[in-house]
Amino acid sequence: MSEGNPLSLGSLLAQGMHYLESGTGAVVPSIQPSTTFARDAAYELMGPYLYGRYEGPTTEATEHLLAALEGARAARLFASGMSAATAVLETVSSGQHVVAPAMMYHGIKDWLHHISQTRNVCVSFFHAPTTDAIAAAVKPGATTLVWIESMLNPTCDVIDIAAAADVAHRAGAALVVDATFTPPVTLRALDLGADIVLHSATKYLNGHSDVIAGVLATNLMDDRWDAIQRVRKLVGGHPGAFESWLLFRGLRTLALRYERASRNALAIAEHFERHPRLEAVLYPGLPSHPGHRIAAKQMRGGFGGMMALLVRGGARETRRVAERVTVFVRATSLGGVESLIEHRAAVEGPDSPVAPNLLRLSIGIEEVHDLIRDLEQALATDTGA
Ligand code: PLP
Repeated sequence: MSEGNPLSLGSLLAQGMHYLESGTGAVVPSIQPSTTFARDAAYELMGPYLYGRYEGPTTEATEHLLAALEGARAARLFASGMSAATAVLETVSSGQHVVAPAMMYHGIKDWLHHISQTRNVCVSFFHAPTTDAIAAAVKPGATTLVWIESMLNPTCDVIDIAAAADVAHRAGAALVVDATFTPPVTLRALDLGADIVLHSATKYLNGHSDVIAGVLATNLMDDRWDAIQRVRKLVGGHPGAFESWLLFRGLRTLALRYERASRNALAIAEHFERHPRLEAVLYPGLPSHPGHRIAAKQMRGGFGGMMALLVRGGARETRRVAERVTVFVRATSLGGVESLIEHRAAVEGPDSPVAPNLLRLSIGIEEVHDLIRDLEQALATDTGA
């Protein structure tokens, strides 16, 4: 699909999966949990590291791999996706303007509300996933950040990243892309013009629902990047060595996991697209999806495992479907090997803009027929029992 964009499995392997530790020949990095690093008698540090809150060898090994995957000059790991996001937002000063989607990950939206109330940062939310809506929200000269998600959480609307970058740059703003739904095996936001790409590495990058982590990657070694690194250092956003190591391990199977989840998701979306109990299946891999053309332009290697179902009826009927699944797990989060189902409005609470009849699905790598059968029985006409 798009040019200069991701990465066959072969090139992924070439870009870092073939790890070889010098000195030992180990094919996986060591876990180095030391919180401090010694100096010699002349008080010179004995190696490149000083203190575990600043940096560490295990985290660095994972950062190198992530930078290679993103085609970035630098990547920095954080203790969570939220810690990565708030480090970026810490660089916004009083009086500056930020543009973001009205439908987005609710935790980051909460933080945007927080900084607008406490720090005199002005935030404009755009309501349609279109370049025109972003262009109408920016204020040339005042907007410092345009914040988008490559696929909006949870509606799976698709934003044209190259066009958004153009709008942001013309206004003198930087474009931050939260690409949590679209890992770099399918989409490389920096190649499309983003200034910073963010992932909740908790999700696809790790892929096993056993690490909370975040990552930022960029090609711009500018003042903002220095400030972000300073926030990580002083606020304590550096992840632990074991989490970094688990993430390295998870990344080695990212391409395979993503490919299988994408294949499963497309089969499920096609199977349920015209199901009588559903108003819609929101999956960008379906040609009927309004974002399909843009997704096909900027993604490759599949459309991912994220989708939403709009159930006919209201919250009660929708929750009833989630209650009846036996293979899908009722849980929040996404991007793991196991399929999850979530009534998103219930999780986000009363201020949520998410429709009460929306179920978000994160499709895993199970046998697809089991997943289809499970949803079929969960959607079977309710007898009122
Ligand atoms: N961005 C998106 C799109 C997310 O879905 C999430 C979490 O669900 C985050 C950021 C925050 O990541 P974390 O939970 O790792 O802090």
